[in-house]
Amino acid sequence: MKEIKNTLNKKIYYKIVCTGIAIILIGLIIDIPLLSKVEFGYLFRVILGFGLSVCLLLYPKYETDILRISIIVLASIYFYILFLLYPGSSFILLCLIPALSILFFNSKLFYFSLFLNGALILILFGYILFINQAYQYSYIQEDIIGYLLNFLTSQVIIYFIFHLTNSRMKKQQLYYEQMQQSERLKTSGQLAAAVAHEIRNPLTVVKGFLQVFEGDPSFSSERKRHFTLMIDELKMAEQVISQFLTMAKPEQEKATEIVDVKVVLQSVTDLLHSYGLLHDNRIELKVTDDCTISANIIELKQLLINIIKNAIEASDYGDLVIVTAEREKDYVVMKVIDHGQGMSEEEVALLGTPFYSLKSKGTGLGLMICFNIVEKYHGKIEFKSLKDHGTTASIRFPYQNQV
Ligand code: ADP
Ligand code: MG
Repeated sequence: MKEIKNTLNKKIYYKIVCTGIAIILIGLIIDIPLLSKVEFGYLFRVILGFGLSVCLLLYPKYETDILRISIIVLASIYFYILFLLYPGSSFILLCLIPALSILFFNSKLFYFSLFLNGALILILFGYILFINQAYQYSYIQEDIIGYLLNFLTSQVIIYFIFHLTNSRMKKQQLYYEQMQQSERLKTSGQLAAAVAHEIRNPLTVVKGFLQVFEGDPSFSSERKRHFTLMIDELKMAEQVISQFLTMAKPEQEKATEIVDVKVVLQSVTDLLHSYGLLHDNRIELKVTDDCTISANIIELKQLLINIIKNAIEASDYGDLVIVTAEREKDYVVMKVIDHGQGMSEEEVALLGTPFYSLKSKGTGLGLMICFNIVEKYHGKIEFKSLKDHGTTASIRFPYQNQV
């Protein structure tokens, strides 16, 4: 983790570390007059204190695991040596050693520190009970169980603090990454929309000229066939651009209102009636009253047109497409049922992927737009399909009471 990389964190880190080093130094200086000769324990303390300070100061520059482990090990030994050299020093400091590793927000390091502290405390208590029988530790010898329980409780508390802060940190980091990602997507989406818009104008001009040439008797029928092909391809490109641009429309153009699903479905099925008749497909509508939702009417129409159009396109000649809507508790559920070609499980899983289309003239953008619209209104869309038997698309929107 590169948690000390930004300048603010670095400043706070150095402030904390300098205070820590100052405390170590003051401790060492205060003890100088008490020394009658050079003591091994004091020397060891100086070496440990120096090593720990160097590691702490180097850490922001080289955020390596070795430095982290060295800091934890050196700090642990330092506090235990302090406790052994000065029996009066506080036992609570030993309990708090794993809290140091919380600063690094690294689970493995924390568990290592917890384990190390457990091992060191057992060694210390073993030493006090069986080797050092001197009076300085009599208070521990008399209440060894109490001290052990205190130690265990403190470790459990530190564990919970670490667990809670760590999971919160992870969530925040994830949220931050998602924010960055969506910001990037938004910017690239706006850029793509601008490019798409610019492409549409020259396409229209080229298509217009080709249509003129197509009707010009001076061209051979072979050439005219080429023009028709070109026009078809340009129409396809235009369709992709138009569908893409509807998604990139600014939010303020998409005001939400309370919509009666019955009215919208009626107008959408009326619109698609003649499209269905091309292959003799009829649309049957079954809607109950009191199906109101909160949405933008244009987006809702766009969603339903896409789904019903797909159902018609998948249907065999003369098949019926059934469209229903009813209330289910706090939701309004719309279903578009066809008895057409259906899809395999793998095909259903791919729905909504940009440019996924099995049609020769499909854009593969329709369902992606639908998924976006449904998600925006906290709805759900689900496809149940059986190959060669048909598909049921269920769209679920939160019910909105009419006021
Ligand atoms: P397009 O209609 O332009 O191909 P869509 O995103 O609307 O793009 O649909 C993607 C693909 O999903 C279609 O090409 C089709 O293969 C499949 N599909 C969608 N709805 C149905 C349906 N009701 N029955 C069978 N296949 C479907
Ligand atoms: Mg479609």
